[in-house]
Amino acid sequence: MVAKLFAVKGMNDILPGNVPRKEKLPDSAIWRWFERTVETVMARHAYQHLLTPIVEPTPLFVRGIGEATDIVEKEMYSWVDAMNGDALTLRPEITAGIVRAMVEHNALYNGPLRVWSIGPVFRHERPQKGRYRQFYQLDVEALGFAGPDVDAELILMVRSLWQALGLRVGEHVRLELNSLGQPAERAAHRAALVAYFTEHAASLDEDGRRRLHSNPLRILDTKNPALQALAEAAPKLADHLGEASRAHLSAVCAVLDAAGLPYRINPRLVRGLDYYNLTVFEWVTDHLGSQGTVCGGGRYDGLFEQLGGKPTPAIGFGLGMERLLLLLQEIGVPVPDPAPDVYAVLPDATCLPQAMVVLDVLREQGLSVQMHAGGASLKAQFKKADASRARYALVFGQDEVAAGQVAIKPLRADAQGQYTRPMHAAAGWAHELRTA
Ligand code: ATP
Ligand code: MG
Repeated sequence: MVAKLFAVKGMNDILPGNVPRKEKLPDSAIWRWFERTVETVMARHAYQHLLTPIVEPTPLFVRGIGEATDIVEKEMYSWVDAMNGDALTLRPEITAGIVRAMVEHNALYNGPLRVWSIGPVFRHERPQKGRYRQFYQLDVEALGFAGPDVDAELILMVRSLWQALGLRVGEHVRLELNSLGQPAERAAHRAALVAYFTEHAASLDEDGRRRLHSNPLRILDTKNPALQALAEAAPKLADHLGEASRAHLSAVCAVLDAAGLPYRINPRLVRGLDYYNLTVFEWVTDHLGSQGTVCGGGRYDGLFEQLGGKPTPAIGFGLGMERLLLLLQEIGVPVPDPAPDVYAVLPDATCLPQAMVVLDVLREQGLSVQMHAGGASLKAQFKKADASRARYALVFGQDEVAAGQVAIKPLRADAQGQYTRPMHAAAGWAHELRTA
């Protein structure tokens, strides 16, 4: 016997709702609904869609994300192409690839761009609920804008998305905000941090000691409970921010205040990627345990130059789709549960050609029609019709079809009895079967 094959650990199949599944991830209809909702919200804000490759040159991420980040240190799927020796990586996030594409195509030649993309990203992490090795990100970027107006626009756009999905700010998700200042301000803060943590080196964990010189800011982001008090009392970047950086943050806050969006300034919010400056933010939830960040982003004015482009201010965010859909599931937000409008029962194979013509007319009128394929007894077909959760069964029996008619049987418990309609006039009565 041939050995059974399984999906790679931490990588999930997203399946239709009627397929039994091991993982408790939401079904594919909910994914499609999320994507449609995103499309609507993006269109309302005049953001354009784009797609970039899933495989990129490894140096893009090493240079773009930063060598001392978790992602580049230990989470990337990288390999050498056996054909030509190229160093390649499955993208661990989408921003760096978008910036590469913008630089490559000189895409901002005619002015700034607002773009979005959805697709899989890959990180070699320990799989658990809300943390996978392949997961989907919605990525939104405003490129060529210095802000703070677009900073506020992006943050408020996420609130619009929450509203469209049925999530309530405050109750289900909340906003955390910070400013990382400019590189010189960070350097001054970094020096103060290194001095502080060096003084307390004995209290640091192994990760902390490693980061002390490579990336001390990341110690502030530690999840180790034993280090919380130490991190809390560390020198604050806010005390090193200059006038312009403080004004940028205040301008963002003024828009959020006017829009009635509550937020918390979290001085320890540093984000896991090296390329951020000024505005950074996270949308977090208390309903998903330790995987509580559903959306994170910030400004990255230095990234274009770092990747060989002209200086270009930009800001964006990434939203983890699995986490978000798990959150909707967790709090019981109503999500669509699609069923066909019509199930076509075909007890007599000789009627099939005429029946198919009618079914196509109904589909052209916008109805969702599931045809019984493969034949079976009338009783067995009706069982399938019930299981499909369609509102109507259309029965193409020999006698009806011979008389040019089709029998329509409402399947809802409270529905009235069966009636017939002329097959040739299906375009005229299709609307009667449409789901309200
Ligand atoms: P975390 O601190 O949870 O590791 P992160 O800072 O690494 O998150 P980002 O790089 O900002 O995450 O990615 C954007 C979003 O993608 C996160 O806010 C989260 O919702 C989601 N995400 C990150 N890593 C994973 C993962 N391994 N599996 C599923 N979703 C993830
Ligand atoms: Mg991470």
